[in-house]
Amino acid sequence: MLATAEQYLAMLDGAAAGGYAFPAINVTSSQTFNAAVRGFAEAGSDGIVQITFGGARYLSGPAQDGLAGARALAALGHELAAGSPIAVALHTDHCPPEHVDGFLRPLLAASGYRVARGAPALFHSHMFDGSNLPLGENLRRSAELLDQCRALNVVLEIECGVVGGEEDGIGGEDTASDRLYTTPEDLLRVAQVLGTGERGRYLLAATFGNVHGLYAPGHVRLRPEILGAGQDALDRAHPGTRFQYVFHGSSGSSPEELQAAIGHGVVKVNLDSEAQYAFTRAAAGHMFAHYDGVLAVDGGVGDKRAYDPRAWGAEAEAGMAARVAQACEVLGSAGRSITA
Ligand SMILES: [Zn+2]
Repeated sequence: MLATAEQYLAMLDGAAAGGYAFPAINVTSSQTFNAAVRGFAEAGSDGIVQITFGGARYLSGPAQDGLAGARALAALGHELAAGSPIAVALHTDHCPPEHVDGFLRPLLAASGYRVARGAPALFHSHMFDGSNLPLGENLRRSAELLDQCRALNVVLEIECGVVGGEEDGIGGEDTASDRLYTTPEDLLRVAQVLGTGERGRYLLAATFGNVHGLYAPGHVRLRPEILGAGQDALDRAHPGTRFQYVFHGSSGSSPEELQAAIGHGVVKVNLDSEAQYAFTRAAAGHMFAHYDGVLAVDGGVGDKRAYDPRAWGAEAEAGMAARVAQACEVLGSAGRSITA
C-alpha cells in the first residue's frame, strides 16, 4: 500500500521510539522501484523509495526532464505500491538550490492541487540540500520550504553540514574534511529556525563523516557520537525533543556503525551504491552464465529466453531486492510493518 501522510509520520515516529530506521532506496526506473518494494515486502518492512533530480531526468528518457521523471515515478509508485503488502513512502532526494524553482516548487504545487481535491500528495517528503550555502541562508530557504510542506502534510528533509564523496554528479573530492562533521551549535541553530516539529515536520541530514559512494574499508571515519551530541544540546534547549536524523552515504558502513547512528536518532538510512551494485551484479552474472544466449555468437541467433530483457531484468531485480531486504534486517525495520 501507499502510506498515507499520517502513516508516514507514524512510520518515522515508530522508528524513533523503537530504535530502528527505514532504508530509503534510490531508484532510477520501474525495475529498480519494483526491486526496492520487493525487498521491503520480503523483509516485512515498510520503506522509502527515493529519486534524485538526476535519477528523475534519466527516468524521463529522451525528454531529459527531471520534473516529468519525478511525476512519472510518483504515478508509478502510487499505482504499484497499492498492491504491496507493506507501506511504501515516496521521497525526492538531494535537490540543490539551483533546482528548487524548476523541480521542488513545481512538485509541491502539483501536490497542492492534489491535496486540495482530497488526493494524496505526489511525494511524502522532499529533500532540500542547501549544504553548499552558508548555514543561515540554508536555514532561511529551508524554513520557507518547510512552511509550504507543512500546509500539504509533507515532510521536508534538510541537510546541515556536507556529505562527502560524489552522488548523482554532485560533490567531489575537494570538501574540506572539517566540513564533513557538523557541530552541536549548528544543529541547535536548525532547531532555533525550523522548530522541533511545531512549525512542520522535518528530517535532518546531519553529517558525521559520511560519504556518498562505495569505498574500501577505512576510507571513511564515521563519528556518530556527533549526532548524540546534537541530541544532548537539543534536549538541554528544548527538553524532551529529539531530532529525526537521516544517514546519507551508508554504503560500506558496518552493521555496528549503522546501529550506533540509529541509537543516536537516525530514522532514515539512504542506500544507493550497494543497491546499484547488487542490481548490476545479478545482471552481469546472467550475461556471463548465458553469454552464448545473450550474444549472437559465430553467426548464431542467440537465445530469446536469455536476451529477453525480462530474463536478466528479473535476476537483477531479485539481486537488488535481496540487498534491500538485508538492509531492513540490519536497520531493524524488518517484521515491523504498520500493515502487519
Ligand atoms: Zn545523499
